[in-house]
Amino acid sequence: MSGRTPVIAANWKMHKRRDEAAEFLDAFLPRATELNGVEIVVCPTYTALDVAIERCGSSRVRVAAQNMHFEREGAFTGEVSAAMLADAGADGVVLGHSERRALFGETDEALARKVPAALDAGLVPILCVGETEAQRDAGETEALLRAQVEADLAATEPGRLAELVVAYEPVWAIGTGRTASPEQAQEACAFIRSRLADRDAAGAEAVRILYGGSMKPANAAELLSQHDIDGGLVGGASLDPGDFASICEAAS
Ligand code: PEP
Repeated sequence: MSGRTPVIAANWKMHKRRDEAAEFLDAFLPRATELNGVEIVVCPTYTALDVAIERCGSSRVRVAAQNMHFEREGAFTGEVSAAMLADAGADGVVLGHSERRALFGETDEALARKVPAALDAGLVPILCVGETEAQRDAGETEALLRAQVEADLAATEPGRLAELVVAYEPVWAIGTGRTASPEQAQEACAFIRSRLADRDAAGAEAVRILYGGSMKPANAAELLSQHDIDGGLVGGASLDPGDFASICEAAS
């Protein structure tokens, strides 16, 4: 037993209008009351954040955004800051998702500023890292994970590592239906933990490291049974309240 409380987070991406988010939570929240021993997070779009925050209220389910800017305020049209997310009542924020890296030019330099900005605003950052298929095939997985972890956390105080959640998300497994094997996922998560331990051994032992990439009810239990996998970041299977509840049950 690792002693780390598992986290299951629903990344809704650009899905669910406000009424759909409310409908999901009305179906899911009654089931969540029975799920002890697991932290549950939903990550709606910005426009449904207030609906989720209001619905989740005093329940055990927390709410996170899917991105933020590292500055507190300023001339950054279309952006939202960590302080604004905290002011809206969000508990956390997903940072560095591979879709943002690949499609929207998210850089390690920006992430190095976003992680401490989120922590300073009282948000839990869910930092995503992971290799492409070409990088895995070329034997570059560990080098890539090392580089991302070092660069993205370059400005984060070692003493704050325990407050983070890190998600190992192999790009080739996201939205493809191809899941990493439990052994592949465990190996990568253990490697990430060992890199964090270079900066702070106690923090690395405490940090929750999630697996993400086509996690679903049928494969969740085996993935979650691995020693260094402390939960899941779930995309497609988190859109259905029944499937998401089943995954949370596998972690509880
Ligand atoms: C994700 O978007 O973070 C993700 C893991 O998606 P999926 O579960 O659909 O692969």
